[in-house]
Amino acid sequence: MHLNSKHPFYSANDYYRELFGEKIIKLAIDGGFTCPNRDGTLSDKGCIFCSGKGSGDFAGTKNTSVTRQYYEMKEKMAKKWEHGRYIMYFQAFTNTYAPLDRLAKLYEEALSLPDVVGISIATRPDCITEETARYLAALSERTYVCVELGLQTSNEKTALLINRCFENKIYANTMDMLNSYGIDTVTHIILGLPDEAFEDMLSSVRFAVDSGTKGLKLQLLHIIKGTELYSMYLEKPFHIMTFEEYVNTVVSIIERLPSDIVIHRITGDGKKETLFEPLWSLDKRRVLNSIAKEFVKKAGFQGHLLLS
Ligand code: SF4
Repeated sequence: MHLNSKHPFYSANDYYRELFGEKIIKLAIDGGFTCPNRDGTLSDKGCIFCSGKGSGDFAGTKNTSVTRQYYEMKEKMAKKWEHGRYIMYFQAFTNTYAPLDRLAKLYEEALSLPDVVGISIATRPDCITEETARYLAALSERTYVCVELGLQTSNEKTALLINRCFENKIYANTMDMLNSYGIDTVTHIILGLPDEAFEDMLSSVRFAVDSGTKGLKLQLLHIIKGTELYSMYLEKPFHIMTFEEYVNTVVSIIERLPSDIVIHRITGDGKKETLFEPLWSLDKRRVLNSIAKEFVKKAGFQGHLLLS
């Protein structure tokens, strides 16, 4: 992929076009899972930023079948893209947190639907067994399979603060295991966590890349009403990234990334009704346009200032 300041990073869109020869649409669904960080196994609080929907606020309707959600989400997407092929994105909660036979049934249902070319599975790094990885490796021989791991930060102090409930080494071991099975990966990192400076965010990205992730999702921290984070903020406000800080941070991080890392996301999605701060993030188009303009202004692009 030839990158320059006008095409400044290797996007998911670029990557899917290379793999499938056309635009691929991701349909976010809720597979009816819970999470060990919510059901009392590790904690009953969850990560402090996590909404009651398990970070699946834009997924299909919970407690309805995968097939039904496929048609529901496809119809929603049809306003934007009338035709296309799809990746079924198991987004809400922890999508490998169940016995393998239940997982296999859900994934197979998703893969049997018309024009579905693969699945993407969001999960915690402490929730993938070797047996599941082996199954996913076999599955990836006949379809596209990607596992998305929520790291959020590599700063262990912040990890404690956000109640992540796993250590960095668990993430690194799981990433190793997935790579050894040849399974595609994406790592989620949150920018703007309380008390984190640019160096912390860059370290998190560096840690994910060094651990072998194939892709990244950079998401802005959202304070969602009703979450632990919201109560924490009301009690003791912390710095919320400004629009300008966010744009500069995203650009500066991408400039330091190897050019073969796929960038799946550079903003976050927030719902107007539940987002408390930062409200500027609701204007997603402005955020994306400003990031694009900043690359041009700096004559920068992915890999331009490689991580060292
Ligand atoms: S691991 Fe995911 S689903 Fe579980 S509490 Fe954290 S953000 Fe929510």
